[in-house]
Amino acid sequence: MKIVKTVQEMRQLSERVKIHNKSIGLVPTMGCLHNGHLSLVHKARKDCDIVVMSIFVNPMQFAPGEDLEKYPRDFDMDRRLAKRAGVDVIFYPDTKHIYAKGFFTFVSVENMDKIWEGKTRPAHFRGVCTIVGKLFNIVDPDIAYFGQKDAQQVAIIKRMVGDLYFNINIVIAPTVREKDGLAMSSRNKYLSSEERKAAQVLYRSLHEAEKMIKNGEKKSDNVLEHMRDVIKKEKLAHLDYVGIVNHEDFSSVSEISKTSLIIIACYIGKTRLIDNFGLM
Ligand code: AMP
Repeated sequence: MKIVKTVQEMRQLSERVKIHNKSIGLVPTMGCLHNGHLSLVHKARKDCDIVVMSIFVNPMQFAPGEDLEKYPRDFDMDRRLAKRAGVDVIFYPDTKHIYAKGFFTFVSVENMDKIWEGKTRPAHFRGVCTIVGKLFNIVDPDIAYFGQKDAQQVAIIKRMVGDLYFNINIVIAPTVREKDGLAMSSRNKYLSSEERKAAQVLYRSLHEAEKMIKNGEKKSDNVLEHMRDVIKKEKLAHLDYVGIVNHEDFSSVSEISKTSLIIIACYIGKTRLIDNFGLM
């Protein structure tokens, strides 16, 4: 497994791969790898000749006061896990290279980046789209892999790829969960043991919603009211938002259908966690 740190070296490597008519799969991450990330690698390994994983804690997607400084980083562990999962190349660039002096260009998917996650984290998706656009141009993948765990990110990246004619297939992998249902996330590391127990409430509320819908409930308001009640009962939880939206444009829907997605963001203590459940 190769570790590549510069944009130039990464570009040259990708060019060599393409000359030999081989395909590249890209798995963008911020490191602190867990089985959610590795499920994307496994998919890429099956589909592509060369698997590139980027590890870059992207400062631009964190607002001042968010957890950029304390975001967990463990490159040695990541390197071991990536190698074992079959990654060929880790692209591990320096912030100084990615946002060089004089950098002034941003990518934003307007409107969709202002709602839900974008309301609480106003510059977040602009940061995500800018780094993902850069990675697409540097690595030149045939396929890029993202997790359904970050559902709004998925919808926004698909929109960006369509709008800007990136010639890249986007493959989405299902959310990988802990045994009790909690979606795996690097931020779960922040939880104390008491908070870790409380964090089950996100999945529990989604599961309750699923049951209601399976039993025939079609009105979003009724499902959302029940979810809010479930969250309220958990003392350490503080709801940011819960919604039922169209999975492509994230507009709220009043009638639940197969294209609906239930989304939730909740603070457990100081840690903000997100999850979702699709009805497709
Ligand atoms: P991150 O390192 O948090 O930026 O995540 C990198 C990629 O892994 C993103 O496409 C995430 O959606 C995906 N991912 C994170 N957690 C999970 C999970 N529990 N299941 C599946 N994919 C995930």
